[in-house]
Amino acid sequence: MDAMTCPRCQGSMATKAYSDVTVRQCESCQGLFLEQADLGALVEAENDWHAHRSAHTAPMPRITADMTAPPPAAPRSRSFLEALFRG
Ligand SMILES: [Zn+2]
Repeated sequence: MDAMTCPRCQGSMATKAYSDVTVRQCESCQGLFLEQADLGALVEAENDWHAHRSAHTAPMPRITADMTAPPPAAPRSRSFLEALFRG
């Protein structure tokens, strides 16, 4: 794809690829540019992410007398799309 400038602030836009979807994000204002079909693919990926989320939840541990506090949980995204706005 060709280099693009941001329509809002004229900043340069970096290309980011997420599986089947390619978006461009302005390095200055973080604005996103993507095609309509890619938006649909992102919405589907978001729905899949939520649909499979419970499968990744760890089962509740049995409570025993010698239990110690579990390690702090790693921070996780609230949604698939959050990854778009990181870094
Ligand atoms: Zn911009």
